[in-house]
Amino acid sequence: MDDRRLDRDAIKRVNRNLVLNLVKSDGPLSRRDIVRRSGLSAATVSNLTAELIAEDLVHEMGPGETTRGRPPVLLRLNNRAGFVVGVKVMEERLAAVVTDLDAEVLAYRSDPLPTPRQTESGRSIDPAEVVAAIAETVEHVLSEAGVDRSAVLGLGVGLAGVVDSQTRRVVFSPFFAWRDVDLAGPLRRRLGMDVILENDVSALTIAEQWFGHGHNYDHFCVVTVGTGVGLGVVANGQFYRGAGGGAGELGHTTLVEGGPTCDCGKTGCLEMLASDRAVARQASRLVADGELELGTPTMAEVVAAARRGDEVAQGLLAESGRWLGVGIANVVNLFNPGLVVIGGEGVHAGEWRFAAMRKAFQEHVFDGLADQTEFVIEPAGDDTWARGAACVVLGEMFKSPLHKTRGFEVSASSGRVQA
Ligand SMILES: [Zn+2]
Repeated sequence: MDDRRLDRDAIKRVNRNLVLNLVKSDGPLSRRDIVRRSGLSAATVSNLTAELIAEDLVHEMGPGETTRGRPPVLLRLNNRAGFVVGVKVMEERLAAVVTDLDAEVLAYRSDPLPTPRQTESGRSIDPAEVVAAIAETVEHVLSEAGVDRSAVLGLGVGLAGVVDSQTRRVVFSPFFAWRDVDLAGPLRRRLGMDVILENDVSALTIAEQWFGHGHNYDHFCVVTVGTGVGLGVVANGQFYRGAGGGAGELGHTTLVEGGPTCDCGKTGCLEMLASDRAVARQASRLVADGELELGTPTMAEVVAAARRGDEVAQGLLAESGRWLGVGIANVVNLFNPGLVVIGGEGVHAGEWRFAAMRKAFQEHVFDGLADQTEFVIEPAGDDTWARGAACVVLGEMFKSPLHKTRGFEVSASSGRVQA
């Protein structure tokens, strides 16, 4: 029994999303299954499912199995009741997908962004140009998917940097040297659809929570490695943002005081030791010293050389993996996640990087925590990042205002809430 008085509409929203979420994640389910799993009354479940069916979000399907009596009608999510678009904004390109409500990708495309100009504060690009490019890409990918704009429930945009998901503004973008830029407003006006803005690693984490490996974990982390090193944290079943949306800057934690200077202006950041950029920087030093032979000192060339058996190249990848392992041990010591998902384009370095990562992790993690941590290495292409951005919109749609709660019943006479 709970004496909290909650707004009736809010309670209905919680219950409705709870039912929708159960059908999505555990369906097909009978109404009786929903009653049992939600803790809601049969009458409430009957009303809510009728409403969801009327809105075409849920479909009835053939009867399920039963040992006696009339077999129950099963309910499942109508994954084609609407569609979402996800766009990942990268330094030089856009990647875009259209997905259904199960986050299945129907169409994918990638388009170049206009070239940034060199300014006093670094490379920069006018936000209006990025808005125009995103809008054009969205229109193209929708027509490739054969989805009409009226069926789109929203657009999710993921980009690197600090994003305030409440105000939907870009607080800081390292790629474009933007500070406090409104990207969502102009996009919404241009495309006529709801736009959600999210940090790219946060979007990937939310995708893992709703549709991926993290689905059954209340505590898990996503670590990305590529040009940078990123972190997303889910704690107590909630995505952790921090006070201003800036949580998870794992790449900018200091590992070597006075170490190499980072783009962020500080020195010795993990990103300068463990990322693909760090590998390329080291490779170019070794090429200059005549210790490594490469056409151009890029991450792709280092990986190719490692595959050919070049031990110096293999050593470079292992070194980056070792630093990554130290960084992940710190994350596990802080958050004790049950699962760490590793993604990002740097996954292509494979075991050259990850064998060293696991070894360093074991050496640096606090005793007892290692056994509680599972690892999954998830190859992430640009389409995965764009799908992550789409999942942010889906996550909003399925999210209950009170996460992972059981249902609430209001007694008609008192208006009191029972949980
Ligand atoms: Zn840094």
